[in-house]
Amino acid sequence: MFALSELVIYQIASIRKEAGNTHIYKMNPVTGKRFDFVPGQFVFMHILDEKGGSIVKRAYSIASAPHEKHLELCIKLIGGELTSKLENLGEGDKVGIEGPFGHFKYGDESEAAFVAGGTGVVPFIGILRHINKNKIMGKFVLFYSTKTMDQILYKKELEKLEAENLNITVVITLTRETPREWDGECGRINGDILYKYTEDTNQFNWWICGPMEMIKNIKNHLIVLGVDTDKIKMEGWG
Ligand SMILES: Cc1cc2nc3c(=O)[nH]c(=O)nc-3n(C[C@H](O)[C@H](O)[C@H](O)COP(=O)(O)OP(=O)(O)OC[C@H]3O[C@@H](n4cnc5c(N)ncnc54)[C@H](O)[C@@H]3O)c2cc1C
Repeated sequence: MFALSELVIYQIASIRKEAGNTHIYKMNPVTGKRFDFVPGQFVFMHILDEKGGSIVKRAYSIASAPHEKHLELCIKLIGGELTSKLENLGEGDKVGIEGPFGHFKYGDESEAAFVAGGTGVVPFIGILRHINKNKIMGKFVLFYSTKTMDQILYKKELEKLEAENLNITVVITLTRETPREWDGECGRINGDILYKYTEDTNQFNWWICGPMEMIKNIKNHLIVLGVDTDKIKMEGWG
């Protein structure tokens, strides 16, 4: 157990299996008091003991946008220290939430490109919801790489966002299969794909999120394409 600061108790309102072993958790503060955050930020979620003390905490990006009522997290259950305990929680159970944290703070800029691997797409879901809700004009491109078609997170929502909002382009690439019914990109995100959908690559602010190795690779591709490093933000784990 460790000392806590600003820990707000949240109750899980719903759990939805999103893809494979990744679940979407919607939760509300028990006191009714919500915290303010900027799209793209993350929180620490704490698993609590029976006295409400924290047993373990991990960082999770916020999938909801500030205008939404629930706090939404999207978590891949990998059998680790926190996720093996989270697996046993259900609707009505309580967790501790601490935050917000992080330098991923979307400030309504009008040309932004987001590059995600796996659950790295989560902060960009919140950002795209915010862009769509607030009718922010500009050019927004999400590059999202995932292993297989059945592991795509928020697939229907991303298709709807792209169909309804002409400012948003979604480029999904599959790295481990090429199904016959798939007409999107395949293979790892590389310089050709990044250039193909942005062209004026240096005009964009770039946000990269996902496994550490992937974000370093993408940064290198962007540097080769001439993007200034001060236009690149990165958040990685694993
Ligand atoms: C800023 C930030 C935001 C994050 N946002 C999310 C998010 O939105 N959704 C999410 O599911 N996770 C997210 N993570 C990862 C999360 O914090 C935990 O690392 C993850 O849930 C594993 O915790 P654990 O205690 O179960 O595993 P642990 O016991 O801590 O670790 C088990 C091992 O799994 C590795 N690992 C961590 N994440 C993954 C993964 N996704 N797939 C495979 N191996 C992994 C770890 O490096 C470690 O080696 C984020 C991390 C950071 C730093």
